[in-house]
Amino acid sequence: MQLTNRSKVVSDKHQTALEKLYLPAVLKGMSITISHLFKRSATVKYPEQKRAMAGVYRGQHILKLDENGAERCTACGLCAVACPAEAITMESAERKKGEEHLYREEKYAQTYEINMLRCIFCGLCEEACPKEAIFLTDRIVNTEFERDDFIYGKDKLVEKIDKRIDVTKRQTLEVAKFKQLADTKHNTVWTGKQIKGKH
Ligand code: SF4
Ligand code: SF4
Repeated sequence: MQLTNRSKVVSDKHQTALEKLYLPAVLKGMSITISHLFKRSATVKYPEQKRAMAGVYRGQHILKLDENGAERCTACGLCAVACPAEAITMESAERKKGEEHLYREEKYAQTYEINMLRCIFCGLCEEACPKEAIFLTDRIVNTEFERDDFIYGKDKLVEKIDKRIDVTKRQTLEVAKFKQLADTKHNTVWTGKQIKGKH
């Protein structure tokens, strides 16, 4: 039964005496190999050498803290709904009294997980987030031996307060302007001065 229409008729042409020697083919192959010695290498010795990433490169996610170190994520679930790969899962919990310094909103993500094996790094979770909580960074997701290790929980996703991650390269002027609107002011993380300096 024919499964595709990509079948090819195999040639039954007999080799010439020269072709039977294989020498021309070997020399042709060697010339190609040698020519590459004089060309710029297409590879780098990673991880010692690293290529410059584009400013818009989308790598490992982080969950941002606000200016006071509280988690911005309010477990609304919009990122999970927007995710075409169904890579995000979370469980919400209610903030208790005295936890205001930990969680910015009354509801927060008790657990938040991203399966990096499912993720296609499309950035839709970042776009969907109304709280400016999730961002994709220029970090490359680590290689692992176990599949379970690719499921990143809050321990890997929430940024450290003493090691804030700059995501301004991922911010366009349009996003910055959106944050300055009165009804979206809760998202403001840039000042007018920063926007002028950037453009
Ligand atoms: S980057 Fe895309 S695929 Fe990955 S978690 Fe976000 S929405 Fe899902
Ligand atoms: S990261 Fe943003 S979109 Fe996702 S649950 Fe948290 S607040 Fe909602």
